[in-house]
Amino acid sequence: MPVDNYEQEQRAKHLSTRQQLLMELDGALSADGIRHRKRAHLRHSFAWGLARRTANTLRRLFDIFLSALMLILLSPVWIVALLFARVSGGGITRQKRLGRWATHFNLYQFTFPGKSISWLEQLPALFNVLKGDMSFVGPRPIAPGEDFAEKRIAWKRYNLRPGLLSLWWIRKRANIAHSSEADLDLEYVETSNFWGDVGIAVRAIPAAMYSSGSGNAPAQINFLGVRIDNLTMAEASARIVTLAQAAESSQVCFVNADCFNIAFADKEYLTTLTGAKLILADGIGVRLAGSMLDQHVRENVNGTDMLPYLCAAVQESGLGLYLLGGKPGVAKDAGKWISDHYPHLVISGIRDGYFSAEEEPDVLEEITTSKAAILLVALGSPRQDKWIAQHRTAMGVKVLIGVGGLLDFYSGRIPRAPAWVRELGMEWFYRFCQEPARMWRRYFLGNFEFLYHVLQERLRQKPAHRPEDIAE
Ligand code: UDP
Repeated sequence: MPVDNYEQEQRAKHLSTRQQLLMELDGALSADGIRHRKRAHLRHSFAWGLARRTANTLRRLFDIFLSALMLILLSPVWIVALLFARVSGGGITRQKRLGRWATHFNLYQFTFPGKSISWLEQLPALFNVLKGDMSFVGPRPIAPGEDFAEKRIAWKRYNLRPGLLSLWWIRKRANIAHSSEADLDLEYVETSNFWGDVGIAVRAIPAAMYSSGSGNAPAQINFLGVRIDNLTMAEASARIVTLAQAAESSQVCFVNADCFNIAFADKEYLTTLTGAKLILADGIGVRLAGSMLDQHVRENVNGTDMLPYLCAAVQESGLGLYLLGGKPGVAKDAGKWISDHYPHLVISGIRDGYFSAEEEPDVLEEITTSKAAILLVALGSPRQDKWIAQHRTAMGVKVLIGVGGLLDFYSGRIPRAPAWVRELGMEWFYRFCQEPARMWRRYFLGNFEFLYHVLQERLRQKPAHRPEDIAE
């Protein structure tokens, strides 16, 4: 056989073997695995490298163009600010920061001694963007000595230029920064793309309008006749697990604007809320009310966002969880989600929430014999909370939590609003679009009613009772 033919035949054989192996591999992999392999292949290709380099260049050009434009347009502002800073004994400071590839650069900022005008202080950082030390969007520029600056997990952040705006900043303003800053930076680095950055820049506009003054908020706040435990998500889940190990049983409630509205008209519900061991602030309405009444809410602690934190804490404690509520099949599917994500978590029992008064003793009996320590009750407000208050001590369960539509979300029956909608504080609108006939009254009339009560309370507050007056 001529040598050429032999080589061609061997190559064809090799190719077909390779092809066959790949096909077998595809067959052995899940749909996700195949997608992952195809993406990895694409990433290694020349076209991908070229596309990435082009995107980086475009992004840099965009940063240069926009920072230069803003510096020119805002020149009257920053020239006056510079003069003001100089006159008041301040000026422009240079602070060491870690930039791309962990190189050091000086971050420029105005200082106005005795004053805090945060947006104005950041203005000189536009020069950092122009110079290429920073970008408009990226992870926060960290200082060389900071906690996670040296940690391996932080290294990925150094692939990108730090940003004036970051995902953490937006979520913090929207009260949904439940993960640590390092985790959110990592999330940003791993998912960052051009349109994502544009989205962050757009979302920064409403986020800038939300108050940021929740740093030294008290552990408990009180408004409209209800006490709220002003905890973060992590603190609240840890507290629930501690309560689940105590001798007595406790009730946990989440309160949102709608709950307040119900409580204004339903005294039994108001008594139930005020008698609960833990009352957690749920949603943008309560946060806005807190800002208007000078009682800042630290985090939006709603049951749906809390479930993963709670499951992680419950799994570690070895305690049992019981899921009660939702249409038939809903609690079972939510339980499957929990088992898939927290395989060592003990699910002590599951039951749907459509039972008659005659069946109720059986339900109580089932829960008692399950020996669950924590019970999630999804029967809707205010029924679930009143039900808990009525049966709290009858089942031997240590913590009973009213969770509304949580099981519907985790069973996959009702999709959750995407993160960017929650960052805009518009989850309520997303929920309205899902069930307009049921939700229009709750959100459109209810939000106005709630706002009216908050404004009334604001007017009632005597100046001497406002926290800033007391501080003075
Ligand atoms: N539900 C239930 N039994 C009932 C009425 C309602 O299990 O008799 C469930 C319903 O299927 C849903 C949850 O209670 O899963 C209520 O969800 P919703 O989002 O309305 O809660 P809310 O925000 O009103 O607390």
